[in-house]
Amino acid sequence: MDLAQLTSDLNALRDRASSAAVSAPDTAALDVIELDVLGKKGELTAILRGIGALPAEDRPRVGAIANEVRIAVEAAIGLARAQLGSAELATRLTAETVDVTTPGRPIRRGSLHPIVETARKIADVFAQFGFVVYEGPEVEDDVTNFQMLNIPPDHPARDLWDTLYLDMEGRLLRTHTSPGQIRVMHQERPPIRALLPGRCFRYEAVDASHASEFFQVEGLMIDEGTSMADLKGLLDQFAHAMFGAGRATRFRPGYYPFTEPSVAFDILCVICNGEKCPACSRTGWMTILGAGMVHPVVLRYGGIDPERYQGFAFGMGVERIANLRHAVGDLRQYMEDDLRFLGAFR
Ligand SMILES: [Zn+2]
Repeated sequence: MDLAQLTSDLNALRDRASSAAVSAPDTAALDVIELDVLGKKGELTAILRGIGALPAEDRPRVGAIANEVRIAVEAAIGLARAQLGSAELATRLTAETVDVTTPGRPIRRGSLHPIVETARKIADVFAQFGFVVYEGPEVEDDVTNFQMLNIPPDHPARDLWDTLYLDMEGRLLRTHTSPGQIRVMHQERPPIRALLPGRCFRYEAVDASHASEFFQVEGLMIDEGTSMADLKGLLDQFAHAMFGAGRATRFRPGYYPFTEPSVAFDILCVICNGEKCPACSRTGWMTILGAGMVHPVVLRYGGIDPERYQGFAFGMGVERIANLRHAVGDLRQYMEDDLRFLGAFR
C-alpha cells in the first residue's frame, strides 16, 4: 500500500459516501451509511489501518486527508439528515393531525346515593338552626338503646322493636338513632342542639315498605325553657324547606316511651294536597316523623336536671323523606345497588 493508493481510496470513499447520503431515502438509511463509513468497524477505519505500512514522513499527510474525508462525509450526512428530517416531520404532522375542535370524551360522573343526599339535605336544614351533627355507634348496648330511653326490660314498648342481639351481654345492633340522645347528653352540657343521622337495624320481614337495614335522623334540643312551640316552629321550617314553602303541617298525638307528650308530625299530602288519595290512605295527610318533649326520666339518665332544663327530640326515617322527595315506591331499591335506579338521582 502506497501513499497514492491510500489517497485515491480515501477520495473514492468520500465521493461514494457523499452521493449515498444525498440519495438516501430516509434518515434510517443515513444511520446505516454513517455506521458503515465512519463507525468503529467502518470503511474509513479499515483504510486507515494501512497507514502503518507507509513511511513515517507520509503518515501525517494521509492523516490529514483522512480527516478531511471524515469531515466531508459527516457534512454530507448531516445535510441529508436535516433535509430528510424536516420532510419526515412534515409527513408525520400531516398524518397525525389533532383536531382540537373535536368534542372530548365525556367523563362519567357519579352521584350521591339518594339516602346520603337526603340525609345531607336534612342536616343542611337543621344546621341553619344551629344543630350540629354527631355520630353514635351502630353496635349499642341494651342499656343505652332501651333502658336509658325509659324502655325497661319488661316494658311492653319493646314489642315495637324486633331487635338483632349480638350476644348474651345485651350488645345489639341499634334499633333506632335515639340512643345517640343519651350519648350526646353524657358528652355535652346544655344548651344542646344535636343531629344524629345513622344506620339502624331491625329484624323485619323485608317488603316494599320494611327493611332490616334503614336510616334515621334524630334531633335533640335541650335548653332552659325549650317548649313544644319551639318544636312546632322548627319542624314547620323543616317541612317548608323540604317540601315547599307554605306546606301545611299538623301535630297528632303519638306515643314514644322517651318523650312526653309525644306527637306524630304530618304534612299535607304531597301527592293530592289534602284531596285524599291512596298515597295518604285517603286522609289528606302524611306522617313524616315522630317527636315530643324529652321525658324527664330520660333527661335524668342523661345527667341533666329536668327541673332546670327541658328538651325536645324528633326522629325521622331518611328513606321516608327520600320517598316523598323522589316519588320512590319501594324501599328495597335503595339497597339494591342498581345503577339504573341510582343514576336517576344525578
Ligand atoms: Zn294524598
